[in-house]
Amino acid sequence: MVDVNNSRPILASIHLDALRSNLVRIKTATALAGDAKVWAVVKANAYGHGVRHIFEGLRAADGFACLDLTEAEALRRMGWRGPILLLEGAFNARDLEVCSRLQLWHVIHCEAQIDWLAAHKTNEPQRVFLKLNSGMNRLGFKPAQYRAAYARLAILSQVAEVSHLTHYSDADSNDAQGAAFVARQWDVFQRATQDLDGECSLGNSAATLRTAQRSGDWVRAGVALYGAAPDYPVKTCTDWGLQPAMTLSSSVVSVQDLAVGDSVGYGSTFVADRPMRIGTVACGYADGYPRSAGNASGGAPVLVDGQRTHTLGRISMDMLAVDLTHLLSSGFGSRVTLWGRADASRADSTVLSIDEVAAAAGTISYELMCAVAPRVPFVVME
Ligand SMILES: *Cc1c(COP(=O)(O)O)cnc(C)c1O
Repeated sequence: MVDVNNSRPILASIHLDALRSNLVRIKTATALAGDAKVWAVVKANAYGHGVRHIFEGLRAADGFACLDLTEAEALRRMGWRGPILLLEGAFNARDLEVCSRLQLWHVIHCEAQIDWLAAHKTNEPQRVFLKLNSGMNRLGFKPAQYRAAYARLAILSQVAEVSHLTHYSDADSNDAQGAAFVARQWDVFQRATQDLDGECSLGNSAATLRTAQRSGDWVRAGVALYGAAPDYPVKTCTDWGLQPAMTLSSSVVSVQDLAVGDSVGYGSTFVADRPMRIGTVACGYADGYPRSAGNASGGAPVLVDGQRTHTLGRISMDMLAVDLTHLLSSGFGSRVTLWGRADASRADSTVLSIDEVAAAAGTISYELMCAVAPRVPFVVME
């Protein structure tokens, strides 16, 4: 699948082999805890990768979890007949019509959603995941209200089966307090659900990789499937055996020689203290590359012809500058990796992890993935 119709060299390549391998990695983790089933989380248009781009790579998942009905619709159109879970459930009563038509499973996190379901006319009883607020305080029923909500759902003719779900707030944390909070949420969940029938879903990527035994019958894996470490910098994607599912690449479109005292880019924030050679790369914040990466001391990491270098000065809307001084054989037209594989066509290629770039920009991989701009063309690679 190729929709490249642009002469500007920026490109996002999606690696199906990496998606498959990361899914196997998650399944291996769950095997340690009795073979949980895996939801591939594809909200936010598959974390910016594109639902239609990733589908072939993740179709060995047991189900897909998404947020928007458009994502669920795209999955059904591509022929997915297995489970689809709406992670926040219905946003209004009409959404339930779509749940019936597309056979979607959905989360119930508040009383209004039960009211809509009780009033919904359908011949197709639905499977719902009742959400417990076990301590994150974002969505879900408090433990004291959980049983009553369960009892209300269990008697509805519109409901086929009730399962249990909660979300960890600190599964990626590496301090004792974070670990204690995971243990506490697990405990709260056990007590709220202990004598109620139904499958359970707890773990996100971090919990699944780190504490599979506290992740439930259905894990919900997002970022790890896309090849980032959920708990960076405690662990890296290499530590977890994950491969980047996306390479953001471009090329050097101009080379400049700098004398001592010359500056680079807007605001002249970088000034050369020695003679330098720099490259201008066709990638900027309008492509989704984080402008804040320009504030990193020493710049953000970049690969040019597979060699590590770094950004210089501010990130512009359409361009950024990289140091080529030590890269004697690189120059005009050189291949640039903003994150992902140095050579997008090779699975054994050098990798620049998106986690490193995100850290330089003061954010997390999730935000960078989701921010890849619509103007960037995508290509799907086998
Ligand atoms: C996004 C999301 C996930 C996936 O989280 P990752 O950290 O990307 O694995 C799981 N569960 C819920 C409810 C989510 O919103």
